[in-house]
Parts: sequence; C-alpha cells; structure tokens
Amino acid sequence: MRRVSIFGATGSIGQNTIDLIARDPARFDVVALTGGQNIAQLAADAKRLGAELAVTADPARLDDLRAALAGSGVEAAAGQAALAEAATRPADWIMSAIVGVAGLAPGLTALEQGTTLALANKESLVTAGPLLMETAARHGARILPVDSEHSAIFQALAGEDIATVERIVITASGGAFRDWPLDRLAQASVAEASCHPNWDMGQRITIDSASMFNKALEVIETREFFGVDPDRIEVLIHPESLVHALVGFRDGALMAHIGPSDMRHAIGYALNWPERAELPVDRLDLARIGQLNFRAPDPARYPALDLARQVMRHGGLAGAVFNGAKERALDAFIAGHIGFTGMADIVARVLDDLTSRSGLVDDPITLDNVARLDHLARQGVDTAIARHG
Ligand code: NAD
Ligand code: MG
Repeated sequence: MRRVSIFGATGSIGQNTIDLIARDPARFDVVALTGGQNIAQLAADAKRLGAELAVTADPARLDDLRAALAGSGVEAAAGQAALAEAATRPADWIMSAIVGVAGLAPGLTALEQGTTLALANKESLVTAGPLLMETAARHGARILPVDSEHSAIFQALAGEDIATVERIVITASGGAFRDWPLDRLAQASVAEASCHPNWDMGQRITIDSASMFNKALEVIETREFFGVDPDRIEVLIHPESLVHALVGFRDGALMAHIGPSDMRHAIGYALNWPERAELPVDRLDLARIGQLNFRAPDPARYPALDLARQVMRHGGLAGAVFNGAKERALDAFIAGHIGFTGMADIVARVLDDLTSRSGLVDDPITLDNVARLDHLARQGVDTAIARHG
C-alpha cells in the first residue's frame, strides 16, 4: 500500500488524480486531501477514499466541513497551519496541485519529510526553484514533474545524460486567441479566454494559456527543474497539443513525447514511476490525425514569453515578482478591472520597477522573501491599475 496525499484535491488536477487512485483502491492508502471552497466535493472524496484527514484552506468553512464529515471518521481541519500539518503526515507520494504561490509552503513542508512530491504547482518552481530543489536534495526527497510538458521532457530524458542535451522545446497550443486578429485581443472577454481549444483545466491556467503566461511560467519551470541554460529552451506553437515536448541532443536527434491531451497521463506517470502502469487514456490513431503542425510564436501576440526571458536574466526573486504580478493581474482581468492585454502591460511595468530597485530581487530565496516580493508585486499591480486603469 502506498500512502498518498493530495493538495488541491478538489481542482482539475486533484480530481484527475483521484480518478486514477479510485480505480485502484487496494494499492493506495489516502492520508490527506485538501481543498478550498468546494466542501461538498472535498468531503465526498475524503469519505469515498477513506482519507485520514480533510483540510479546507478557508478557516471560515471549518464548521461546514465538520458537518459534511460527521460520523465518517475522517478528521476535519482548516487554515494555513492545518495545511502545513497535513504536509507533515507521513506519505510516500504527495500531489502538489494547489493553484498559485499558495502551493509553495505545503510543497516545501512535504519535501522536508523526504517524500516524493508530484509537482503540478509550477508556481513553486517559478517563485522559489532553487529553494525547492535544495530542500529536496537535503532531505533525500524526489520531485516528479506533472505539468505535461515537463513530464514529457522527463520521459524523453530517461536513461540520457543531461550534458548531451542541446535544446529543449516545449509546445503550446496557442490558446483561445491564437487565430484572432491582434487588434481584437484587447477586447477579449473572460468567458472567451476561459475556453481552451484542447485541454480541460482550471479557469486560471486556461486564461494563462490564452495569454501564454502559462508557457512563460513553464519556460522558467523547465530552467529550474532541469537546470538547463535559458538559451537552450524554446517554445513552439503546436495547435493539436499532441506533441508535448521535444528534447534535442548533440547528435541532432530530437526525442518527442506524443500522447493524448489528458492530464491523467502525466499524473499517472508520476503516480506509478518508475513503472509504467496501464492508464485509462485514449490511444492516438496517428493515421486518422494525419497532420501535426508547428509554428514559431509571434512575440507581439505573446509578450509574456519575453517577460520570462527577463525573469531568467535577473534570476533570484524575479520569479516571485513575476508570478505575484501575474496572479494579481489575472485576478483583475477576471474581476473586469483590466482588459486581456492589460495583464502583460501591467506585469511588465511591475517587473521593470521591482527588478530595477537596487538589490531587491537579489535577497536570498527564502519563504519569507518570496512572500515579501509576492506582496510588493501585488501592490505594484494594484497601484498601476489605480493610476492607469
Ligand atoms: P484548480 O483551480 O482547478 O484547482 C486548484 C486547487 O487549489 C483547488 O483544490 C482549490 O481549492 C485549491 N486552492 C486554491 N487556492 C488555494 C489557496 N489559497 N490555498 C490552498 N488551496 C487553494 O487548478 P488546476 O487547474 O487543477 O491547477 C492546479 C495546479 O496545477 C496549478 O499550479 C496549475 O498551473 C497546474 N497545472 C494544471 C494543469 C491542468 O490540467 N489543470 C496542467 C498542468 C499544470
Ligand atoms: Mg503545461
């Protein structure tokens, strides 16, 4: 029996993880599930899977969670301290699938107990990559990538020497607006940005796919996880979303990972690693698919990609600034305070401002400093919106 916990169990990744675990209940002993506002889902899954503990991030929902779990024997808890405590409960495998920088602290706590962390929360690597990797190394913990591109790279690298890698290519669908005229983008609505052409994901990452902030985060994630030089990381638009990444070696070979657009593949790979188990995903019929298309991304359509390059040039806490500004700008777009293209404009301004202040992003990468820069970045976004609208 493998002891498993899922942080962000009620989200898109969390539910896909639960789908896989529930198909094979004899193999898994569920320790903790965490969620946010969706108490009914959290409680139902905790009962169904026989979890030890269910935690909602919102302290105001503790009574609701207790009521939903009454008589089940599942412990209920709420708030940040409860999330941290859940991450200390011994488990062999922990899924990190909270959305946003909120996923960083529980992920670090999990690594400190030497567990295997399946990492969907890319924001952890963007805001504090070196801290995450060092913590894993210090405690003999392992991080397995769950983002589809990074799982693809990881699989293409199996048995290879990273020193022979010339380049890593991650693909992007191009998102909801890849074929829109550029001058219409400023008017794009939240509903329009929330439709992904190929993947079914949470709302925030779906909008980030339309703006390519998601790909920008993933470029940084690639750099932090695989330790490759930023110049060796490329982004390619691939509208079919079937080739997830390619690794180019010094002999000219490109190893591509091809699979259906179903996150249960990457989750299942991390769940069963180092074995490959049978997974309930579609088998691709390439003859029927017929064509796979690729093209270079247009920097004018996707300014977030250049911002990622700036972040990597600065290093240090620039990733925390970038992510915090991006999260706040996304909140403002969803709330209707700024337009779609306003997100990149404002993030660029805040990134410029905070990285040009002497020493600010060069402080050591600690949880406290990440939180401080994240806060400053969010404040910067609010100020910019108040000033320029
Ligand atoms: P989601 O919005 O569907 O779910 C997020 C989960 O986090 C929910 O359980 C929610 O309750 C919880 N949560 C939200 N805010 C929280 C907070 N402040 N504190 C504690 N818990 C909180 O998100 P998702 O699409 O499943 O994405 C989760 C992570 O996985 C993100 O980092 C995302 O970038 C990454 N990811 C997702 C996909 C996908 O297919 N959805 C693919 C690749 C990577
Ligand atoms: Mg991805």
